[in-house]
Amino acid sequence: MNYYGNYVTKLIEELSRLPGIGGKTAQRLAFYILNMPKENAEQLAKSIIEAKENVKYCSICCNLTDEDPCSVCRNPKRNHNLIMVVEEPRDMAAYEKTKEFNGLYHVLHGAISPMKDITAEDLRIKELLARLNENTEEVILATGTSIEGETTAMYLCRLIKPLGIKVSRIANGVPVGSDLEYVDEVTLSRALEGRREM
Ligand code: ZN
Repeated sequence: MNYYGNYVTKLIEELSRLPGIGGKTAQRLAFYILNMPKENAEQLAKSIIEAKENVKYCSICCNLTDEDPCSVCRNPKRNHNLIMVVEEPRDMAAYEKTKEFNGLYHVLHGAISPMKDITAEDLRIKELLARLNENTEEVILATGTSIEGETTAMYLCRLIKPLGIKVSRIANGVPVGSDLEYVDEVTLSRALEGRREM
């Protein structure tokens, strides 16, 4: 399969490791990169390294951030006693776009999935429990409506409710989780508004 020499083959190989990038796309991207002006290619490589070196997880909400705590967790104007639990950083970004939510977030980085061998221990659940205290007003479970998302919400409810903290679930019928970033802001606002206590 080494039609193009070692360097190009290696580049194609690395690109094809990315999610959703098959062999053909990897080839197309590799040739695109090779045809780029050198500065652009250098900028791309530099962005990858810089992101890798500088982006960390917020020690409070576990979202990706340059600074710890992140800008949301640092903001004194937000309600620090209201926590919305989401699966991925992109879910948080989608809710932030609605400008309807004034609390803080907690990013689990996934959902419980026996199929994918993802257990509760693989998620940032310990970090969530450590944040809860007598001042916590409500935990909103905004994990996806997929089986994984529902399983995760049920699991978290069983852990958090006995602590005497109000637990709610965003309204049903909203394709959240992996599709959440494509859902329009009005739908997301409605899902949040229509949340029900569990
Ligand atoms: Zn944070």
